[in-house]
Amino acid sequence: MLLVGFGADDVDALTIDLRAVAEGTVEVVAVDDAGAAVGAARRVTDDDGIVPVVFVDTGDDGADHADRGTRCAVTLHAEPLLEWTRIVLVTSRASLHGVDDALQHGAVHGMITRPWTRDGLRRSFLAHLATHLVARAPDRLDEFDHLLDDDDRRLAHQRVELQRGRPPLTPDGAHPLLDPSIGFDDLEPRLIELLDRSLGHPPRITVAPGTVLIDEGEDVGGIYVLLDGVVRLTSGSGSGERILHERSTGPILGLLSLASHSRAALRVQAATDVRAIPVTLDQLARAMNAEPELASLLVQVLITSLARRLRRSDELQVELDRALAELSDARAQLVATTRFTAVGEMAAGMAHELNNPVAALARSIEHLAEDVAAVVDDPEVRRTIDRQRASTSQSTVEQRRIRRALTEAVGDRSLADRLARIGVTDPDEARRMAAAAPTVLDRLEASARLGATIRNVSGAADRIVTLVESLRAYLRGDDARGPLLPDIDVATGVDDALRLLSHRLERVTVARRDDEVDPITARPGALQQVWTNLITNALDAMGDEGRLEISVRRRGDDRVAVDVIDDGPGVPDEIRDRLFEPRFTTKGGRVQFGMGLGLSISRRIVEEHGGTIGVESRPGHTVFTVELPRTPELPRTPARPRSDDRPRTDDREGST
Ligand code: ADP
Repeated sequence: MLLVGFGADDVDALTIDLRAVAEGTVEVVAVDDAGAAVGAARRVTDDDGIVPVVFVDTGDDGADHADRGTRCAVTLHAEPLLEWTRIVLVTSRASLHGVDDALQHGAVHGMITRPWTRDGLRRSFLAHLATHLVARAPDRLDEFDHLLDDDDRRLAHQRVELQRGRPPLTPDGAHPLLDPSIGFDDLEPRLIELLDRSLGHPPRITVAPGTVLIDEGEDVGGIYVLLDGVVRLTSGSGSGERILHERSTGPILGLLSLASHSRAALRVQAATDVRAIPVTLDQLARAMNAEPELASLLVQVLITSLARRLRRSDELQVELDRALAELSDARAQLVATTRFTAVGEMAAGMAHELNNPVAALARSIEHLAEDVAAVVDDPEVRRTIDRQRASTSQSTVEQRRIRRALTEAVGDRSLADRLARIGVTDPDEARRMAAAAPTVLDRLEASARLGATIRNVSGAADRIVTLVESLRAYLRGDDARGPLLPDIDVATGVDDALRLLSHRLERVTVARRDDEVDPITARPGALQQVWTNLITNALDAMGDEGRLEISVRRRGDDRVAVDVIDDGPGVPDEIRDRLFEPRFTTKGGRVQFGMGLGLSISRRIVEEHGGTIGVESRPGHTVFTVELPRTPELPRTPARPRSDDRPRTDDREGST
């Protein structure tokens, strides 16, 4: 074996590596130029030796490096002594573009790009050694058998057999295009065999990882038949380079572009050491003419590659669709959350702002009542006002009973009605007042109205104060992660939630069946969120019309249960298992507060209290039951968020 160096720095390293791969079986002679190489070759052949391979090291990259290498190769190839010697260029170019021409000369049989690896060198050397032996010295093949690995040895012997006129490898059987049992792995050896036969064993090249075999947008002047290694197909775009295929490329590179007469759509780059046979367009045409079977083999490779790529594209499309769906979900979620946060903040602000005027209102009405009492001299008037202020609402049965008694006492129904409005309930008093002048009765009726007005205004102010308080308790969502507080009355929390939702209760009969239960240790704001969610769901299910029953029950000594029961259509069996999943909703895909989060959040809150939540449902009777321990034994620091409360991301498949 000869090594021709042009004073390249790494000639010595290359010599050492070549000696290592030749394992002493083949001598490595390093020389400086083509003339010296021919001289050395002569000495070897005079000794009855052979020169199977010449490595031409073109040295560092220079503008003329390919020229220099090609010229040397051509000179050596023209020398009759070296006519059958395999010539391999060792170059530094990271792209093979332009070197195709050199290969075209027929003087270069292989190429290796820097940085070479010993393994790459070994495979290149052995492939050329085998080829040389098959072509020129088949009888000496056995001498070198031990260097070759099993496959190469088998192939070399098969080629020798073939040369000796034995039948080809797969003479029988269905046409490969129609034989479903034939895959890439079967096609490849046959393809290589046909190329070798028709083109006289075209050169193999070995390139280092990173070498660009075909560049995106380039005119594809031929194909590469991949023998060993992995190539990567990438596409550069505005957003950077994307790897589209690796290991799904198939054994032939460039065929798709060639067949569609287009420029290369992707960049093909070696990901590992790659050994390949470059075949130019001319060579391919020649080969197909010589071996018609080649064309159909290529078609089959093409179809199989296309199918693989399509499958890969489909996978990418599915991944893309899924990513887009997740994105749009996440966006909807974000909109809902943002809206919820905005409304929450607004409500908190309003609650805060309402506090002062409402307190002023409540105070003023008290003062008003005191002032009225101070300016009124008539004790009867004062008593009437006070009586109305203090009165609680009477049931209609009670009102009817009083009216009957008064009518009996004064013998006049309309007079009795007037007296009842004044607040008289006692028949004796009624009789006494019946004797009073009509103007006195007028005054007393006005006084009663005044008293009722003071009572109503004061009641309304109280109601606003409680509502604002409830709202603030609800908005104190921050206590969802805060400490557990002792002495929390569960029924009051349920009352608060009902009060907040009172605008939806006009056509709903609310029934309460509460036991006497002891206060519990809890986060009141968080629990109120649970009641609000359950009641809202019940109202949604009932269409704000029907019967809602809520009961707070004692469960043994240390647990409290709350049932929220509605007479809506119920939860269909098929969705019952999914109710508590985050973002599970049947509510028309509308983006709304919570958006399918209500029950999953409720479950989390309940579990953070050491409790349970469950549902039993049939049409017309749905019961959501929350059970809470009076004293949670649970971590006082709340549990970490459950992973399934977060948007779901499926495990992605491995890379491309
Ligand atoms: P959302 O109320 O936003 O849909 P939830 O997690 O609170 O989210 O509820 C999930 C689903 O459970 C609802 O979409 C509904 O289909 C079902 N659901 C909840 N409560 C009831 C109920 N009381 N009756 C019938 N279905 C219900």
